Amino acid sequence: MNRRWHRAHERLDSTAQAVLEPDFAPMREAAIRRIDAIQLARYAATRNHLGGAVSALSPYITHGFTRLPEIAARLRRRGALPVEHKYVFELGWRAFFRHAWGHLGQGLLDDLHEGPLPRAAYANELPADIREARTGVPVIDQAVAMLYRSGWLHNHARMWLASYVVHIRKVHWRAGADWLYGHLLDGDLASNHLSWQWVAGTGSHKPYLFNAENVARYAPPAWHSAGTVIDTSYETLDLIARGRQRIAAPAATGPGLDEPTLLATPPVEALAAFGAVEALAVFGAGPAAAAPDTAQVRGRAVWLIHPWALDELPADVSPDTLRIAVLPQECWARLPWSAQRWQFVLTRMAALAPAAVWAAPTAALVDALRAARQVHGIDDPHLPAALRRFKLTPEPALFPAVERPCSSFTQYWTRATKHVKDVGELLADLPGAAPPPAAQAELFSR
Ligand SMILES: Cc1cc2nc3c(=O)[nH]c(=O)nc-3n(C[C@H](O)[C@H](O)[C@H](O)COP(=O)(O)OP(=O)(O)OC[C@H]3O[C@@H](n4cnc5c(N)ncnc54)[C@H](O)[C@@H]3O)c2cc1C
Repeated sequence: MNRRWHRAHERLDSTAQAVLEPDFAPMREAAIRRIDAIQLARYAATRNHLGGAVSALSPYITHGFTRLPEIAARLRRRGALPVEHKYVFELGWRAFFRHAWGHLGQGLLDDLHEGPLPRAAYANELPADIREARTGVPVIDQAVAMLYRSGWLHNHARMWLASYVVHIRKVHWRAGADWLYGHLLDGDLASNHLSWQWVAGTGSHKPYLFNAENVARYAPPAWHSAGTVIDTSYETLDLIARGRQRIAAPAATGPGLDEPTLLATPPVEALAAFGAVEALAVFGAGPAAAAPDTAQVRGRAVWLIHPWALDELPADVSPDTLRIAVLPQECWARLPWSAQRWQFVLTRMAALAPAAVWAAPTAALVDALRAARQVHGIDDPHLPAALRRFKLTPEPALFPAVERPCSSFTQYWTRATKHVKDVGELLADLPGAAPPPAAQAELFSR
């Protein structure tokens, strides 16, 4: 056995014993530190392990602390970065899901096509034993506990959790997706709901299934699930997924955990980050501190700070532009968030030093903003349509826009990276890109 192979496997063994459980400081510096810590050389070989070299950047990307072009540019500074690198490929998945959302609109909330069973075969509610981490299947209970503790899960843990919910417990993917979205710090309607559809088989050709052996390979011992319902062959799991039987949790499975409440209004503690807003001044229900105020913005240029655009303001925004933080009520009416997520987002929003925070129904926000001379900001599809009509700047994209709707990632990826070999070429094509340094110019012209 050669020594290099041996060392690589020693590293994999130690990855298999660990679980990455990052914490997420709501600061831009934390996002930048995390980009600079990405281990590109270890990523592909270890990314499926719960202790693997993944970047844990997703909460920062979802909430716009940083964007794909910035991540790619910082990585590219280290040297050549082929677009086929597994890390770039994963960034491509995010871009693909956004592309799909652009074409599907609200349609992503419904089955894209029929899955292994008709819609009526699935329950609409997530059972309490799953929500309370007491299914008796260690991989599921560990995943739920980690989700509540940290607001984040490794991709493999998300896939296992979703597969168990849909194919073993026969709960419709939408119930699981809505629940997970609220507890994740990175909950993104496209990446989350379309991934659930992919696992469920309503957005892919077959259900995603996993067994205890798979868990034992990629997760540490506390997650291993020998002797449980998933300790079986893939043939049996496929029969379960295509059969109508709902497999219940065993009767006695321990006390479990309390599910953190999902909140449709920001918790007072999180609003306290804004200082001036002291009490329940939200969504028009409380004191006027968070109500939209036409007089404040009349005739002014306004920059909108919202939960999906928490980057620094672009350098060309004039210093006399008024920063208004907005929380459009409708965003949480149907899909509420955990207190942890509210805290993460509002702490950063407050640090961007807005002149005001307006928590109100969209119509009230729009009415007040109409008095402004100009309204700028970065667009995001999570925002209500009426706010997006202010002609916000599109989210900075790394990959070129693909106009034709793509029904698969492969189709999207082929079009988005046609004739492109290195990430440097994508960056050079971005609006306002600096010309590549002389040494690299040669590389691009090959
Ligand atoms: C059921 C399910 C639900 C999910 N829900 C979300 C969600 O709400 N928000 C979210 O950002 N991702 C979601 N994902 C995708 C993926 O699990 C996370 O993006 C990833 O685990 C985040 O960890 P990371 O930053 O360490 O990823 P890394 O492996 O370091 O990847 C870097 C970045 O690439 C993007 N990315 C990586 N894998 C995927 C993927 N499969 N799909 C889309 N983008 C990807 C993310 O922006 C991620 O931050 C979901 C996946 C599944 C299976």
